[in-house]
Amino acid sequence: MSEIRDVVIIGSGPAGLTAAIYAGRANLSPLVIEGEPSSTSDQPGGQLMLTTDVENFPGFPEGVMGPELMSNFRSQAQKFGAEFITEKVTTVNFANRPFEINVGNNKHLARSVIISTGAQSLMLNIPNESRLIGHGLSTCATCDGFFFRDQEIAVVGGGDSALEEAIFLTRFASKVYLIHRRDELRASKIMQERAFQNPKLEFLWNNEVTQINGDQKLDGIILNNTVTSEKLDLKIQGLFIAIGHRPNTDLFKGHLELKDNGYLVTLPDSSRTAIDGVFACGDVQDDYYRQAITAAGSGCMAAIDAERWLEEHGH
Ligand code: NAP
Repeated sequence: MSEIRDVVIIGSGPAGLTAAIYAGRANLSPLVIEGEPSSTSDQPGGQLMLTTDVENFPGFPEGVMGPELMSNFRSQAQKFGAEFITEKVTTVNFANRPFEINVGNNKHLARSVIISTGAQSLMLNIPNESRLIGHGLSTCATCDGFFFRDQEIAVVGGGDSALEEAIFLTRFASKVYLIHRRDELRASKIMQERAFQNPKLEFLWNNEVTQINGDQKLDGIILNNTVTSEKLDLKIQGLFIAIGHRPNTDLFKGHLELKDNGYLVTLPDSSRTAIDGVFACGDVQDDYYRQAITAAGSGCMAAIDAERWLEEHGH
């Protein structure tokens, strides 16, 4: 049986690592279960590991690379005594105290828990999608853009993520198609303006991807025009899916309250969940702002909430 920790943090994006920095500096020796490197949804460092330039994180006027930023967060947490387990939590039990967090056959006991498991990319759920991921199909322009130098590629989606990825990809590709299912973008006006001005971007409005082709590697897609029902056979070498995200809350179903969209419920202006001593921060409970800086801010809140809660309960 393991020792009882004051705080176990599940997840290691900006929220979890900020919580670890604050909990570490409060002498709580946090244990961070950071996720699995091979996983696309639970990778240590979270979604910023799948980005390149981060230009809106305060303190970096020249911008910073996502993985570098997360590596700095992690070093800072370690400096203040955070310990890391590079694996995935398999089950939790919040019905008993101390709480149980299981990683395979290893049980970790905690007086308080901070959940910061983040969110992951949504997929189109059409045939060949999972088979061709990593073979011409990607959810991360930052990671894979380089492989498509001078090639023709496409991005699916009409939000800020899709436009950001499409604009980024024009640095490499000879042409980028932006495929959107409507004739109006959801993205912010500033991103729209940037995208419309980019000569390498071509918009394919009212189109849905119905088929992804390719044997060993993606070599084209079939589009269906939702207005005219016209089919388009688009020969491209790369397809990037940027249609939104899903919170990583499967682990907590039946243990904690979830919103209809799957995000964890926290009490207003707080990181507290309905279970005393269990806190949540970052994208796993934020379906509105979803920014690295807001995730980091809520990680700070969770660590302070946990620290005060432990103190109130005599720990
Ligand atoms: P989002 O805003 O939810 O947009 C998702 C897009 O994908 C929508 O245009 C949606 O179409 C489309 N879509 C959803 N499911 C689809 C499907 N099955 N097939 C085809 N298209 C589908 O997601 P996001 O772009 O990831 O952005 C999430 C949040 O992060 C937003 O608040 C955004 O502002 C923010 N963000 C900000 C920045 C930035 O400021 N630099 C960068 C990235 C993201 P419909 O429009 O028809 O629903």
